[in-house]
Amino acid sequence: MLKLCTKPESFLIGRNAMNSERQHTELDLSDLYRDIIMDHRRDPRHFGNLENCSHHAEAYNPVCGDRVCVQLKVNPETRKIEKQAFEGEGCSICMASASIMAEEIEAMSVGEAMERVQTFRDAMQDKLPSESIEGDLQALMGVKKFPVRIKCALLPWTTLKEALEKGSKI
Ligand code: ZN
Repeated sequence: MLKLCTKPESFLIGRNAMNSERQHTELDLSDLYRDIIMDHRRDPRHFGNLENCSHHAEAYNPVCGDRVCVQLKVNPETRKIEKQAFEGEGCSICMASASIMAEEIEAMSVGEAMERVQTFRDAMQDKLPSESIEGDLQALMGVKKFPVRIKCALLPWTTLKEALEKGSKI
């Protein structure tokens, strides 16, 4: 039985992530954005492990110390995401991004989720206007002012993409 997301070094990574959080306390987001991000940070949606997931991937951002594991249960017939969960440790931006992502992709098809990853990535990298992003995810658009943190916001999404792509080959 494959045990996911329980690597012993995660404690160390957690400490690193907390240190880097302290270094970035100057992160100057508007109050509204900060509230949304801190709400997801405090109360992450769909946090935990999925039993019998069909898709999973893990990724690590050495710049900040963020680690994310994404697990999905995709219906093989309808290709819809029936359940989703994430685990990991890292800065507020990364954990909030993962939590918002887990809410966003609820009941999406694999194709829809892949499109959403692309849209979010393009918006974060200024290939699309920030206005093309709605809901809580809009709060992460403020992170664009801090190029070094863009990776933190994108990590859960690139991990989701990897999970979806790997799964489709099985
Ligand atoms: Zn980070």
